[in-house]
Amino acid sequence: MAHLRLAAALTLALSIFGSHADAGVVLDYSDTTFFDGSSTVRVKAKAALEAAVADINAVIDFNLGAITNDVVTGTSGSTTATIDFRYGYRNPTTNATVEVPNTTMPANEFRIFVGMRPLSGSTLGQGGPGSVGAGFGASGFFNPGEAQAAVTAAAAASEHRRGDGPVMATLSGTVFGSPNDSAYSIEFGPTIGNLWFDDDVDNLGGSDGDAALDSFWHFDHTTAVDAGKNDFYSVALHETLHALGVGGSETWDSLVTNGTDWTGAEAIAEIGSGIGLIDAGGAHITDGTMSFRLSDGMAQEVVMDPSIFTGTRKSLTTLDAAFLRDLNYTTQITAVPEPSSLLAMTLAGAGTGLLRRRKPSHRKTRC
Ligand SMILES: [Zn+2]
Repeated sequence: MAHLRLAAALTLALSIFGSHADAGVVLDYSDTTFFDGSSTVRVKAKAALEAAVADINAVIDFNLGAITNDVVTGTSGSTTATIDFRYGYRNPTTNATVEVPNTTMPANEFRIFVGMRPLSGSTLGQGGPGSVGAGFGASGFFNPGEAQAAVTAAAAASEHRRGDGPVMATLSGTVFGSPNDSAYSIEFGPTIGNLWFDDDVDNLGGSDGDAALDSFWHFDHTTAVDAGKNDFYSVALHETLHALGVGGSETWDSLVTNGTDWTGAEAIAEIGSGIGLIDAGGAHITDGTMSFRLSDGMAQEVVMDPSIFTGTRKSLTTLDAAFLRDLNYTTQITAVPEPSSLLAMTLAGAGTGLLRRRKPSHRKTRC
């Protein structure tokens, strides 16, 4: 059954787009200078981040429609309603709210604004989807029946649901006021997100220098993680999946019941039960949940539980992929990400993967 569905999805994608070979998550460095740096630390950090995104892009078969116009209109009789869409995100370096003035997006693209900034406590990184908004206007003769019909027609012209992936948010309400009150409800799919990593590793406030960062983070994704260090690649994987809606989207929320139970069929089929599968915070798989790496089938803690041991690396597991399918993404789990470096790492680490959990490793939490 899985193969049939995969084949159908591929056929559809090819017929519409011709090729989707380089689609997927795109990293946007507009708000950071860190990753432009030429120091060894920064070059390795950027390479690890991009490797994590490449591995996600190899697993998710994105089918996201293009957003071609920031403003849509609908007409009924002599009334024309307009909806002007707005996206926002957190500047990953300053945390300031940024409004994207005119959001269009190519088919299959999801854009993430990345950076480094001071985080307190044991948080290694944070990631999430951007915000959405819309402004409404109308022109014409304007009477109650026409206004509603025009708004409904404009909302129907929205390209922002995009197709696959979770509903990130739904905007709903009424506009224009009595007696022209017109209701609307518009769903938004995955379009933009933000993620950042901690650069205040001594927790004394402010951004630390490369030497301090290098003693805290293990930046090089092509070598095994040094004891006591936090793996940058693993955190990049985790935060990118948050940006795509894991733990922070309307669809995710709709699948969590009783606070910690998961009702998505794919994850339940993968692990047997959704009872207690969600962490108490509501945004992660329960801490310590084990699954199997897509890369080599070895047992490993899932990427999307809330924490990671120092000295260890995670790669995507079958349960992480099942959660993505529950969020309405299509996964290409037969096309395992096999960058030579990651494969070498996982093979080298295979014998000690379980033993590491018994070591008195220091744990770090993260969003
Ligand atoms: Zn998290």
